[in-house]
Amino acid sequence: MNVVVRQIIATEQANSSPRKVVLIASKDFQHGEEIYKEHPVIAQLDIDLEGTAQYCSHCFRALQSGKSITPPEDLLGSAYCSTECQMISDTQSQNLLFGRGPLVPNEAVTGQLERTEAAEAERRAYQQAFVDFLKACGWTQVLLVGRFCARHVSEEVKKLAPLPASLVERSALPEPITPSPEYTFYDHVERLKFLEIQPTEMVMLEHNLLQDVLKKAVAGLEEVVEINKYLAMKGRIAYNSIGVAFDGGRDDRADPKGRVETWEWSRTPVGTERQIGSALYRVSSYLTHSCSPSVRLCFKGTNELHLIANRAISKGEHLTMSYTSIEAKNGEAPEVARRQRRIRLARGWRFACECEACTGKKSEVVGTMTAPDVILEKGV
Ligand SMILES: [Zn+2]
Ligand SMILES: [Zn+2]
Repeated sequence: MNVVVRQIIATEQANSSPRKVVLIASKDFQHGEEIYKEHPVIAQLDIDLEGTAQYCSHCFRALQSGKSITPPEDLLGSAYCSTECQMISDTQSQNLLFGRGPLVPNEAVTGQLERTEAAEAERRAYQQAFVDFLKACGWTQVLLVGRFCARHVSEEVKKLAPLPASLVERSALPEPITPSPEYTFYDHVERLKFLEIQPTEMVMLEHNLLQDVLKKAVAGLEEVVEINKYLAMKGRIAYNSIGVAFDGGRDDRADPKGRVETWEWSRTPVGTERQIGSALYRVSSYLTHSCSPSVRLCFKGTNELHLIANRAISKGEHLTMSYTSIEAKNGEAPEVARRQRRIRLARGWRFACECEACTGKKSEVVGTMTAPDVILEKGV
């Protein structure tokens, strides 16, 4: 993908957390050149768009009215641009979270609950309670955690009930080119930066609702979202999810409900308030923030992310994106815009920006971090 993951020592942060993991260009790029593209690992449309059939719930493609696929039994009201998107979504997480019927033939999975009518009705009731909660609060991080866990399960299920060959490539997990048994995709996600999530009353409520849905789908599955695992995964989603927007974003996104401390933020230079959905990407999670970013994200009608050079980039340079809008709005003084964006960064990602634009200091590259290093350095 033309990039490598490295550890750097940020000189201005020598006293706090001197090491950080960043993406480094592995060749030169011209201004405007595409560096790489990648599909999300998990993605979620904003909740107010589910049930409206405006965008494909899987790939986020805009839907033409009357031409979308809207499965009637889907409690979330998801719509798809194609049977391919529907099948991949069902297999990865939708069926487990919001569908009905067995996930795989009963004999294939021990622990799968027997599908009596009563059990099925109970499962639907838990799914409905989860959907009602999501629609009421508008949050999606809990659903991204749910989709991540479901995807984990679906990888196992796929071994028992393989997908049609045509879907295998598009639905494959983005594993390293040479997968190693010691370093899986899930270890990789564990290495991502995260926010500490406090188990507030609302967080416990969303957790219980998700856990009930998983438990009613497959007995024992609730353990994958045991509370500490849940908080850790939600913290990773909160820090790393990227806002998807086309052409500068939309104008009709409702303001988040509740206190500002409970708002969900995603990385997007157009502002979370203009996105249509959020997604977690394997490589782009390593992009650090700068108020004078070297790269930008571009979405060409789907949630496939294209990374574009904002200027000429030399081999070895540390790539940075903007996690929030950095432009002054409506004649705002640059100093006011700077203060506003620093407030958003502190709220959304809990750091005081130390970028070159804010401090005038450069970071120093000290070494490469590869998968074996990651294992050795666990706990560092
Ligand atoms: Zn689609
Ligand atoms: Zn800055």
